[in-house]
Amino acid sequence: MSIFTILTILAIFAALAFFRASLFSWLIAFAVIVPFAAIDSRISDNTLQYIYVALGIFLTVFGLPHLRRYFVSRFILNFFRKVLPQLSQTEQEALDAGTVGWEGELFSGYPHWQQLLALPKPQLSREEQHFLDNEVEQLCAMIDDWQVTHHDLDLSPASWQFIKDNGFFGMIIPKEYGGLQFSALAHSAVVTKLASRSGTAAVTVMVPNSLGPAELLLHYGTQTQKDQYLRRLAEGKEVPCFALTGPFAGSDAGAIPDVGIVEYADFNGEKNVLGVRVTWEKRYITLAPVATLLGLAFKLYDPKHILSDVEARGITLALIPTNTPGVEVGHRHFPLNSAFQNGPTTGKDVFIPMDYIIGGQDSIGHGWKMLMECLAAGRSISLPASATGAIKLACRTSGAYSRVRKQFHVPVGKFEGVEEALARIAGNLYVMDAARTLTAQAVDRGEKPSVISAIVKYHCTERGRSAINDAMDVHGGKGICMGPDNYLARSYQQTPIGITVEGANILTRSLIIFGQGAIRAHPFVLKEIHAAADTNHDRALREFDDVFFSHVGFSVSNAVRTLIFALTGARIVNVPSNGVTRIYYQALTRYATAFAFIADMSMLVLGGSLKRREKLSARLGDILSQLYLASATLKRFEDDGRPIEDEPLLHWGLQDALNRIETAFDGVLQNFPNRPIAWLLRALIFPVGRCRQPPSDKLSHQVAALTYQIGATRDRLSAGMYLPSDEQEAVGALEAALISTYACEPMQMELAKAVKSGRILARDELVQIDEGRALGLINSDEALQLKRDYQLRRKVIMVDDFVKLGP
Ligand SMILES: Cc1cc2nc3c(=O)[nH]c(=O)nc-3n(C[C@H](O)[C@H](O)[C@H](O)COP(=O)(O)OP(=O)(O)OC[C@H]3O[C@@H](n4cnc5c(N)ncnc54)[C@H](O)[C@@H]3O)c2cc1C
Repeated sequence: MSIFTILTILAIFAALAFFRASLFSWLIAFAVIVPFAAIDSRISDNTLQYIYVALGIFLTVFGLPHLRRYFVSRFILNFFRKVLPQLSQTEQEALDAGTVGWEGELFSGYPHWQQLLALPKPQLSREEQHFLDNEVEQLCAMIDDWQVTHHDLDLSPASWQFIKDNGFFGMIIPKEYGGLQFSALAHSAVVTKLASRSGTAAVTVMVPNSLGPAELLLHYGTQTQKDQYLRRLAEGKEVPCFALTGPFAGSDAGAIPDVGIVEYADFNGEKNVLGVRVTWEKRYITLAPVATLLGLAFKLYDPKHILSDVEARGITLALIPTNTPGVEVGHRHFPLNSAFQNGPTTGKDVFIPMDYIIGGQDSIGHGWKMLMECLAAGRSISLPASATGAIKLACRTSGAYSRVRKQFHVPVGKFEGVEEALARIAGNLYVMDAARTLTAQAVDRGEKPSVISAIVKYHCTERGRSAINDAMDVHGGKGICMGPDNYLARSYQQTPIGITVEGANILTRSLIIFGQGAIRAHPFVLKEIHAAADTNHDRALREFDDVFFSHVGFSVSNAVRTLIFALTGARIVNVPSNGVTRIYYQALTRYATAFAFIADMSMLVLGGSLKRREKLSARLGDILSQLYLASATLKRFEDDGRPIEDEPLLHWGLQDALNRIETAFDGVLQNFPNRPIAWLLRALIFPVGRCRQPPSDKLSHQVAALTYQIGATRDRLSAGMYLPSDEQEAVGALEAALISTYACEPMQMELAKAVKSGRILARDELVQIDEGRALGLINSDEALQLKRDYQLRRKVIMVDDFVKLGP
């Protein structure tokens, strides 16, 4: 056979794979190409006959569904059932709980960018914006975070009352129950703004609006329960908490040892009330010390078979007024110098009537499913918003401080070393805010984004951790010395809280993102699992056969596309942009294809053991995460109207993401246990090696400057944060000092020249200003302006000192 013939045949197969041809098209291609190739090879007639027979059998078996199922799919299904990862009931319920959105497109290997771009721009309603501009603004202004976290270790009574009176606890509660009925986007915006002022206030407000009694009642409560509690929760007459975690069940929350035994007892003067005697020991419970309504998760048992023949009924949720005899609340933990209310709760043999169970008797045993179904919404909002709010403050202040503060006669922000840190803060913030918004909008569309919520929770809190570290470095000693004028230290101290809660980050990265994503968001795997689990053999085989061959076509296609996109730099991919974003859409399509391919190969080679290979799973999750964050960044840039001034932020966010994607691929390939497969994968994914670099020094320089250049981009970066106008406040003074710095620098340069030439003799800056005025270098208004600038700078640079530390 000539080289030309071989290449032509390969090209035909590659084209079939590239365009995801149907099984039928493949069979026709085989029917034509194999005889042609055989004749072209001039083999003997005998051999030719064997080839025709083999081809005939092959085409008949694969072309006739009944035969294919009997001779092929049956065996694959049996093998699949053997290697299928064993899912516990809690894992199964977690998988079933979520919905699939944009991550499904990323897993498809060929994201349809138009779908992303067609999503509406984020927009708050007038009422929501009014609440942010008024109630939230007022609450922020009321809070003195130093007083809260150092002296009172609690919000002030006035702040508590304001929160309750103004519906902050009822943002997710419908208006018919007296709640604000805000969108997830508004809820996220409120938490973001509060977090830019006080972590304590943000946590206090976000918890009742997250996974807790209100959310659970709304979805599963009986009408009586809704009527009894929702209005009181919305009006702040009840303070809720939700207790799942205990000393012996943290990340493995499904293993809670807390129990409830079904029995009859006397309750509230009534005889023989059917209920549950519950014993629990919980810890880390936010708002528990001040809660009036305790949401509780426990395992319910019915040993006397009062309800049914089944003794162990599973995780059950109840709402228990904390004044119920036997309920212990009130003690406090002290989470990293934060002053939000958090503490343990215990109860021993506390009797609760059946109607305390959320959803009533019918909901017994459905607790885990209920929690998983509701988790995604809260996890999509609270922690991404609080991390982003804190970094808005860090970015705005770091930029301003680095411009106002000078060393070696140069603003520290202009030193290349500091520029690197500033660029990371701003770049990370741009991406975090984009991801926060896109994810909140998914919740508003009714999605329960279980995979995306884990991505955005993990990456916003991790990027927050990196950015707050950078902000501390930029501020030098100013960030270290605590006191009312230190606006960073509490965020720095409290950062690990967000990392730990709602799924601790190591677990989230290693187990959840890819682990759930691969099954939940993959176009075929969940269908294959469902087919394999079907006990009706014929139906299972039919469905499995259908999905499996589509899956094979999908994988082969991704393999071919991976190579072609890598060789062409994905320039052939049609994307909805001709501007500055075009190369990014193309690059992301390339990596999405490669990701879909490597995900399949990993599952094929490692099967159920992939679950235990957490380091590989984490890196695969990193690829998916960066694809999502990069998508969100592109969407944000488009929604903002593609401002030219923001392009450095777009480039930073995308280049950083693409570089991280390649690093994650490289990590998977280096550590892939099956080496020949790893070599094959590397040859397809990186045929000419890696090509991405982290953002360049030049780009970092441009991004850093955006943090201190007064203008629309700086405002967009920190939009939605609380910005005090009072110059007596540290942040207010810093903002004023930045404006003043730009205004006064030309005059200061004039005075500096006069000092250098010996016309001004004084050493003290304030006296130099007077001398400059006397010499006519500046007028009296300018002299006043320069003196104010001096005072502002001093206020910004100084740190707090105390006559005495400690009690
Ligand atoms: C301030 C604060 C507020 C909280 N509020 C509440 C609340 O209101 N209600 C409530 O019910 N709970 C609450 N929690 C509990 C929180 O959800 C848990 O702390 C969290 O689930 C982790 O459990 P743990 O602390 O026991 O850590 P552990 O489960 O002991 O984990 C320790 C480490 O092991 C890692 N790890 C565990 N399993 C795996 C795995 N399979 N793979 C990889 N890594 C793993 C974790 O990521 C973590 O890094 C709160 C916690 C804190 C600190």
